[in-house]
Amino acid sequence: MNHLDKLENKSIHILREAYSEFKNLGMLWSIGKDSTVLLWLARKAFFGHVPIPLVHVDTHYKIAEMIEYRDRLALKWKLDMIYGENKEALEKKETFPDGNVTRLQCCKRLKTDALTNTLNGKWPRYRLNHDTGKYEVDKNTEAFTGIIVGVRADEEGSRSKERYFSPRDKNNDWDIAEQPPEFWNQYKTDFAPGTHVRIHPLLDWTELDIWEYIQRENIPIVSLYFDQGNGKRYRSLGCWPCTNPVESTSKTVEEIVEELKTGKFANIAERAGRAQDKEDGGGLEELRKNGYM
Ligand code: SF4
Repeated sequence: MNHLDKLENKSIHILREAYSEFKNLGMLWSIGKDSTVLLWLARKAFFGHVPIPLVHVDTHYKIAEMIEYRDRLALKWKLDMIYGENKEALEKKETFPDGNVTRLQCCKRLKTDALTNTLNGKWPRYRLNHDTGKYEVDKNTEAFTGIIVGVRADEEGSRSKERYFSPRDKNNDWDIAEQPPEFWNQYKTDFAPGTHVRIHPLLDWTELDIWEYIQRENIPIVSLYFDQGNGKRYRSLGCWPCTNPVESTSKTVEEIVEELKTGKFANIAERAGRAQDKEDGGGLEELRKNGYM
């Protein structure tokens, strides 16, 4: 087995393990390259059909192409697609930069609070109706007890402290010092009632692994990752008011792989274009302890 085969095998093993151990399992899909690779792996793990609902937290500040791509793929791959949002904060304009709160407060409302209340079922969730192509209020309000997330350890500091199966308390809070050991690929999957578990099948992947895998598998990716002719492209995708592109003329997956191999970005954090990370001291740790992805 080569390096990518080993990564793929381990991730598929974790996905199947999660599916067999958790009754109400969901998978977060941010529409970025990592969670799209995760979705691809889930299709492989379950022979083309993904038996796990895909959950997207819609801040309503995502670049329009991202949402169009989400719905196009959801229909094409027959995904059980759900989204949640913080309707109240959006209506009251508790947002940034066109509202009345700071970036971190906006992230807390539109991402962390929306995620927590989408996962626990307290706020309305919207499910894609494949017959009409429209979203409808989901009648199922059961809480997700496990959620699969495409975070990678090398992405930024706090993510390197994650486990493959990482417990959160009932408020979605993360106690970094109190995590189960995971020696020799043995995972703890039984937790006390009320525990919400985040599952991280991509923890060992690097940015280059992700792009080499996209290349090998020919995975469809949002075109925002590629230079459209202005010498810039997004290295990491997020909300348009807070995400900046990098200088790059890579127009294809092959060119991105070559660019990464040159080490051009070796000393620049992958999420350096995300303004909210900088406001959290650069590490995202405080935001993530309180439930942020
Ligand atoms: S990334 Fe920016 S627009 Fe998006 S939720 Fe955070 S502060 Fe708001």
